[in-house]
Amino acid sequence: MIHILEPTPDPLQAWLAERGVPGFRFRQIRHWLFTGRAASFEAMSDLPKSLREELPGSFSLWTMRVVDHKKTEDGTEKLLLELSDGQQIECVLLRDGVRRTICISTQVGCAMGCVFCASGLAGVARNLTAGEIVEQMLLLDRLLPADERLSHIVVMGMGEPLANLDALLPALAEASSPTGLGISARRITISTVGLPPAIERLSRENCRFNLAVSLHAPDDHLRDQLVKVNKNIGLGDILQAADAYFEASGRRLTYEYVLLAGLNDQVEHARRLAALLRGRTALLNVIPYNPVAGLPYRTPSGAAVDRFVEVLRAAGINVFVRERKGSKIDAACGQLRRANMLASKTPPEPTPLELA
Ligand code: SAH
Repeated sequence: MIHILEPTPDPLQAWLAERGVPGFRFRQIRHWLFTGRAASFEAMSDLPKSLREELPGSFSLWTMRVVDHKKTEDGTEKLLLELSDGQQIECVLLRDGVRRTICISTQVGCAMGCVFCASGLAGVARNLTAGEIVEQMLLLDRLLPADERLSHIVVMGMGEPLANLDALLPALAEASSPTGLGISARRITISTVGLPPAIERLSRENCRFNLAVSLHAPDDHLRDQLVKVNKNIGLGDILQAADAYFEASGRRLTYEYVLLAGLNDQVEHARRLAALLRGRTALLNVIPYNPVAGLPYRTPSGAAVDRFVEVLRAAGINVFVRERKGSKIDAACGQLRRANMLASKTPPEPTPLELA
């Protein structure tokens, strides 16, 4: 069985050509998948019956099963999906004014080792395929009423997107294609822990997307403790690669900073962060920590967040404090999957770093 949403190289086109099916059928099928929101091949009502019957013999359309679907009053919906090999991932639909934003995953688990994040606690199991990434988009799109369309994508779900560019780039090409979901690359944001060679590859191959870089600390000493992979990288190289992406793309960068009470939220951290970002065309996205069961990290008080932000604003940094949308349904990275793992069998043992 071939996943019909697997774009590299397009197996459907080859399959149709082998059978002498005219080219417009390919366009019709794509239209049903991306715009017509068909639930099955059978539902593609303007295809010949023979084609509708033959397609499911060679292609699977849905390879994932929705094992949990949570909704909140603010319109956030979160899907916990079981993949064909039994692994689980999460993805989210966020409603904000007229925006319909989806947050998608790129890996099962994560290998970057951010100590406060639920996704990486059990390491990485595997990369998602491009088809699996596109399937998340289509499942979330189908949660919308007929007169609404997805407007934005953030690649901020489980996993490190830049560690799976081979699948992510073809999946995002489908998202931004006029015959796919038609979401402009300007409305697609890739969030990364900061992998310089992969940022450089993105600068070369496709710098139309927005880039968000997760910093979480103003110096390598603290970042080594909060983001384990930093020990092999370092802030200097990350900022240099991000600057080069900005040069190539002309798009304002975003830096993300998860605020952890007592660890990286002090005035001194804000001062050093301001010094690091001064002179850079960047937006700083401050994210008060969303607590993860079993981990010792805490959300700073509102006053602590304000104090932190004030120091940065006074230094001329463009700061935005991210609303905690969907926190009630464990909408932060990897939390629903973890809650599910904990509720079922053997939970992965968290090894939170003791920060004195
Ligand atoms: N691996 C990528 C993208 C996934 S996480 C990255 O590191 O950017 C997306 C953002 O959510 C990151 O900035 C991450 O640090 C943050 N995050 C993870 N767990 C969180 C939590 N419990 N509370 C708040 N933010 C969290």
